Amino acid sequence: MGTAGDILDLLQESVVVRSPDGTIRKWNKASEALYGWTGADAEGRPIHDLLKTRREQIEPLEAALRDSHRWEGDVVRRRADGMLITVHVRCTRRGDDGDLVETGVEVSAQRRLEDALNRAEHRYYNVFQAMAVSFWELDFTPVGAMVQRLIRNGYDLPRHFAENPAFVRDMIRATRVIDINDQSVQLLGRGDKREMLTSLEPYWPAESQHVYAESVLAAIAGKPHYATETRLSSIDGRQFDVWFTACFPPEMLARGKLLIGIINISADKKAKTALETSERRYRRLFHFLPVAMVQLDRSELAAVFAAMKADGVDDLPGYFETHPEFYDYAANAIRVVEANRRAAELFHAKDESQLIGPAGRLWSESGAIIRQSMAARFSGAARFESEMKIRTFDGQICDVLYVAFFPEAFDDEAIGLSCFVDISERVKAQAMLAAVQAEFAHAARVSMLGELTASIAHEVNQPLGAILTNGEAALRWLNRPEPDLAELRALSTRTVSDAHRAADIIRRIRSMATRGRPEQTPLGLNGVVEDVMLFLEPELRRQNVEAALHLAPDLPNVFGDRVQLQQVFANLAVNAMQAMTQSERRRLTIRTFGMDGRAVGAEVADTGSGIAAEHLPCLFQSFFTTKDGGMGIGLAICQSIVEAHGGRIEAENIAAGGACFRFSLPVHAEVGV
Ligand code: ADP
Repeated sequence: MGTAGDILDLLQESVVVRSPDGTIRKWNKASEALYGWTGADAEGRPIHDLLKTRREQIEPLEAALRDSHRWEGDVVRRRADGMLITVHVRCTRRGDDGDLVETGVEVSAQRRLEDALNRAEHRYYNVFQAMAVSFWELDFTPVGAMVQRLIRNGYDLPRHFAENPAFVRDMIRATRVIDINDQSVQLLGRGDKREMLTSLEPYWPAESQHVYAESVLAAIAGKPHYATETRLSSIDGRQFDVWFTACFPPEMLARGKLLIGIINISADKKAKTALETSERRYRRLFHFLPVAMVQLDRSELAAVFAAMKADGVDDLPGYFETHPEFYDYAANAIRVVEANRRAAELFHAKDESQLIGPAGRLWSESGAIIRQSMAARFSGAARFESEMKIRTFDGQICDVLYVAFFPEAFDDEAIGLSCFVDISERVKAQAMLAAVQAEFAHAARVSMLGELTASIAHEVNQPLGAILTNGEAALRWLNRPEPDLAELRALSTRTVSDAHRAADIIRRIRSMATRGRPEQTPLGLNGVVEDVMLFLEPELRRQNVEAALHLAPDLPNVFGDRVQLQQVFANLAVNAMQAMTQSERRRLTIRTFGMDGRAVGAEVADTGSGIAAEHLPCLFQSFFTTKDGGMGIGLAICQSIVEAHGGRIEAENIAAGGACFRFSLPVHAEVGV
């Protein structure tokens, strides 16, 4: 029915030709676009059926068309895709029974555009509010009238303004404030915007009047804007140095409106800006330093600490012991308020924000150390440092150096700063070194045993020889017609005791040569010396070394590992023997002594070559040796054993010749003297 290339298709509006009963006869391209139906879909269909014109709108529309041949208005219809649209429709009837022509434009599109405009305006309004500049929209219509009058009467405006400050003041007073942004309320008001929407007068001190006059002259001269530095006053009389700008856009001027901007440039503002800059700098540092850092809010705990102190608590470690639940509370009362990027990496967090919250989580593996840190703060320390372990968010354990700062500058705000330096590599290296050292200790022990094999063999041979002799004697006694039972018993007793002695020696050697786990027990140092002497005596005899023991009676026990301490004496004694090979007089002296009941000491002295002065500082270093085929590990092992037992070891030369090695070990607390 429709004719191709219809002229109607050139129109932007939807045009529908329909019969009086509503059957669609023509449907242009714009209708297709508007309603989504093609000409073929539409032509021949009743229009309100196809477009689902809202029922209540059909009757008035059709009635109007019957009566007046014209109707115009909005109708709501449904597109082919189901979407509801509002269409502004104009209908005209051609003659009484002729077809009707309906044109339509979607109004919802128009509305959408308006909404978008509104939103944009709103956005700009927000920008206006958010800018750091105080903005004022002013109405100067009354001022315009005052000025016009002067111009009409031929006044020289600059001169008149200069000579009549009262007139300028009147102009200022007549200038109405229409709108201001939040910054203006902050800068010049006292919190209430409405009280400021009156006159410009309160903000304009007399000394700045000329600035107002000049801006009026600039506007009259057709300048687009005027700017200068001046002084303005807040509503309650505080004065500020400001940068003042007035804009005169022609379209605003035409409506008697004008926009001014005010920026506070007074000294305290400058100071604030400097502070902001330094704060920004600090934040940049904080965030990008390659050290994991978190900022802690300690205000709650600080208050609790203050209350505890007021209550007479002065020993926080003691308090922790009597109130075990207090630590959990304290650790979580401290909150992480900021964390840097490296901290997020160290804790395997997905980002910095995951670290924000109670600090207890960061310290889960190191309660004892954090208790120390808190105690340090409690007693006024400004800093605490310790190695500790952390657990990452994905459950891995990591060694860190923990440093807590309690900067005095932030005392009021109770802010703390905690740094975590990843030292897992270092700790791993140390653990490896310790393992290597243990390995060497073992090797050194075995090699020492190697050197002593001859003596050991001799030592074990003695009881074995005695057992043999006893056995043979026993057999002889048994072969007698009347065996002497008493003699046999005596021989058997000696045999058993000799066998015990042999077994004992073997056991000691085995314990020296195997790598058992160190066992900490209370033990007497004199007993350790006796063990070692038993083992060394044959070698001492072989080398013609005279041994002198000066063991203090009633020595308090130490707490430690027997085999390791034997090792110390054995190493020192073997070194002494080796130092005396060229000496004429060979004397090994071992002394033990008490030290104020808190420690016990031991000395191993010889009459050997002594130690060259330049070697004294490096004796205890691993691999330092002056001997051909020496390992240089013996003294390093002695030092690590003594230090692991909480003691100290040192060496010195003896005036009369020879060296003396001395070490001390703390007394086992529970035993005392
Ligand atoms: P090594 O015995 O394998 O050299 P040590 O660590 O036991 O390793 O000793 C390191 C060095 O200390 C020795 O090489 C020696 O120079 C010196 N030294 C140790 N003990 C004595 C001593 N009693 N008298 C003199 N020098 C000693």
